[in-house]
Amino acid sequence: MPIRLLAEEVASQIAAGEVVERPASVVKELIENAIDAEARSVTVTIEGGGRNLIRVADDGNGIPAAEVDLAFARHATSKLQSADDLFHIGTLGFRGEALASIASVSRVAVITRGLAETLGVQLRLEGGAIAHRATIGAPQGTVISVENLFFNVPARLKFLKSETAERSHIAALVSRYAIAYPRVRFKLVVENRTAFQSSGNGEVREVLVAVYGVDIAKQLIEINSDFAALPPAPPADDDADDLALREKRTTEYASRNTYHVAGFISPPALNRSNRKDITLFVNGRWVQDIRLSTAVLQAYHTMLMVGRYPLAVVMLTLPPEEVDVNVHPTKAEVRFRNYDGAFSAVERTVRKALTERAPVPHLEARRWVIEPEVAAPSRWSPDWGLAKGETPNAQPPTANSPREASNPQLLITNYDLPASQPELPATDVPLLRVIGQVGAAYIVAEGPDGLYLIDQHAAHERVLYEAFSLQRAAAQIVSQALLEPVAVEVPAAAAALLQSQVETLSAIGFTIEPFGGNTFLVRSLPTVLGGLDPSSAVRVVVEDFEEDETVLAAEVEAKLIARVCKRAAVKAGQVLSLVEQAELVRRLEHCLSPRTCPHGRPTMIHLSVDVLEKQFGRKG
Ligand code: ADP
Ligand code: MG
Repeated sequence: MPIRLLAEEVASQIAAGEVVERPASVVKELIENAIDAEARSVTVTIEGGGRNLIRVADDGNGIPAAEVDLAFARHATSKLQSADDLFHIGTLGFRGEALASIASVSRVAVITRGLAETLGVQLRLEGGAIAHRATIGAPQGTVISVENLFFNVPARLKFLKSETAERSHIAALVSRYAIAYPRVRFKLVVENRTAFQSSGNGEVREVLVAVYGVDIAKQLIEINSDFAALPPAPPADDDADDLALREKRTTEYASRNTYHVAGFISPPALNRSNRKDITLFVNGRWVQDIRLSTAVLQAYHTMLMVGRYPLAVVMLTLPPEEVDVNVHPTKAEVRFRNYDGAFSAVERTVRKALTERAPVPHLEARRWVIEPEVAAPSRWSPDWGLAKGETPNAQPPTANSPREASNPQLLITNYDLPASQPELPATDVPLLRVIGQVGAAYIVAEGPDGLYLIDQHAAHERVLYEAFSLQRAAAQIVSQALLEPVAVEVPAAAAALLQSQVETLSAIGFTIEPFGGNTFLVRSLPTVLGGLDPSSAVRVVVEDFEEDETVLAAEVEAKLIARVCKRAAVKAGQVLSLVEQAELVRRLEHCLSPRTCPHGRPTMIHLSVDVLEKQFGRKG
């Protein structure tokens, strides 16, 4: 074919493809425009997962009647004039591409009234061309409705995920912006139902409750630090004697150089199987930056097991000229001038908050009492303060935590007794004499220094995990062929995923091969896992990985190992013989980190002789 210039329509669809990938991208651009227009209230309405309708209404500055048509032209923006401006951008938009792109792949209607105007304008566009224009009465602000997204790009339509997937993307997006902009009132309406809203009163904690629920929100730890990115610059020599000028320069320099990190992070015990809940904002812009999220992860180093991720909302604010936001059409990526500075500001802030946090409370220092009334649902106090004496890791039981609620006698209250015994090292457990099993879930054992209650499931998980990891480290995973291969069918959505993990699985002792359709044949399993049921082994691989999760290759294995170990471990409710109990405890004693399961939960509770004596009033 000879070289030709593309037709305008084709070129604009190609360009649009970069900006508008899916319904959530439209929502993102429209929300950003509303924020740039200083809206106090933004309402997002979607139907059909955003394919049928996306409407974003704001009460911002509106678009002057004379400029409405132009707003939909490519590279038309009110936010940028010269290329120089690119390096100190204070708005979310600047490319002047969003409205044009959206309009070229959908049917758009806009009603807007500018600040100083008495009447508004209504405009309809179809595939980018203006189809109708009228002057109408309208409240101040802008309402943009996007219908039939991708109606003229069938190929794109085919790539869209399910309605549910798109909806949840949009919900995640709106809620993230609500967290970053607590002074703006956000509302998301899905199929005529309010799915999310924030009050816009500036209380971030309240927004966190709306997004994550009370239980999670109240555990989140606030972070807030400032850093000077560089050491103060020496003032220039020529005016070294002008003190006032020198001071002025120094303060200017300092303000230009401040990296401010704020937000919320989860305590290590509250974690996730993927990075999706690490949310990063850089200068008010939601970004996906794998390296910055690594800075967050690194701060949790040793506190979280491999393959577990914290929940975090981190807002990094730095001088605009320190970041290049013009990296990608969706503006979801940024480049830092001083990347190490940004990385370390985030890492140090998170780390500091985590280490300042009191460590997990020790049961040894508490008194166990019967106090059934505490089992009433804990009430949420709007001032976000934790109840007196309450630490986030020892939550009062709530009605919706079944285990505690059904067993109100075993509540741990927070009267602090003087710590009466030295803390045991995490790496060591004394020789224990098994006494028996309680509730088919806990093993009671005696040690030289008191009583031990061992969670059989957590303990077994730890034992399997270490055995497995040891074999893996030595590249000596022993695998055992099944007498007959077992065929396992997985959900269609999971088949591709499983297929992609076949190799990793074989490295850890699973021989699994595709058997047509969504069926796989399991031929062998790692012997460490003993009698694990093959089909449950396969399911465990696919059930928790989500479709667009990005897992670092190195983590996949560790994650898989942890996951299968959890599945293979004895469950609570399983009755164990005395021999089995003793065997389990003996293997636990040999573990490197016997006191926690691979997910960081305790495997045992220790009641020292001292504590027992105090509890029985034998000792003051
Ligand atoms: P950009 O945001 O990069 O400038 P857009 O295509 O998103 O480009 O928008 C083009 C212009 O339309 C903006 O610069 C702004 O002047 C105007 N505009 C778009 N949406 C709104 C809105 N909700 N309120 C006020 N003005 C808007
Ligand atoms: Mg924009």
